[in-house]
Amino acid sequence: AIPVITLDGPGGVGKGTLSRLLAQSLGWHLLDSGAIYRALAYAAREQGISDQDIHALVDMARTLPLHFQGDAGQTRVFLAGEPIDEVLRQPEIGEMASRLAVHPPVRAALLERQRAFRAAPGLIADGRDMGTVVFPDAPLKVFLTASVEERAKRRLNQLNEQGVNASLSAVKTEIAARDERDQRRSVAPLQPAGDARILDTSGQAVSETLSVLNGWIKD
Ligand code: C5P
Repeated sequence: AIPVITLDGPGGVGKGTLSRLLAQSLGWHLLDSGAIYRALAYAAREQGISDQDIHALVDMARTLPLHFQGDAGQTRVFLAGEPIDEVLRQPEIGEMASRLAVHPPVRAALLERQRAFRAAPGLIADGRDMGTVVFPDAPLKVFLTASVEERAKRRLNQLNEQGVNASLSAVKTEIAARDERDQRRSVAPLQPAGDARILDTSGQAVSETLSVLNGWIKD
């Protein structure tokens, strides 16, 4: 089977950065599953579909004309040919993504789309349920954690770099609300797979976390 390394964990934990760096250094493909949930949220918002309209969301999830271009170095996301990378990063889109992600039929409708990213020579899969649901046979599963304070600070820095203004307390509140929703949902709640290795990245530089991950990859 084509190897997959899953990186799961809560928002702001550094999965995106770490996944990209790992995919680049290994020359593997990258699945940013959060971008798929966000793209669905964006498309639903554009069409005035509520995050509670499961039927319409499932239809949309099946047919969403979503394309990823490029590889780990610089991935761009297109919806019906339009680049949507920037809009997907908006906090409201993340919020709506987490509200529609609680519906089991919506998650089921996105399953094959995510599994299709598995291609030679290998895949780094970034998300919440990569190790538990989407790629349960992955040979290496990592679950990243960090305190809510630390994750809020990282997320705020990211937003500032994108020229978005926000307060630390607002970001912290949003992250905590999203964590709670992601952990409490009945299907694919945010939790480590039984065979995942858990890594606390609080106070760790990206390079330090990467060297731990590279050590596990060599095992
Ligand atoms: O990782 P990101 O912040 O882009 O994800 C946005 C939201 O999409 C998460 O809060 C979560 O509710 C949902 N999501 C999910 N399963 C995934 C990836 C993201 O439920 N594999």
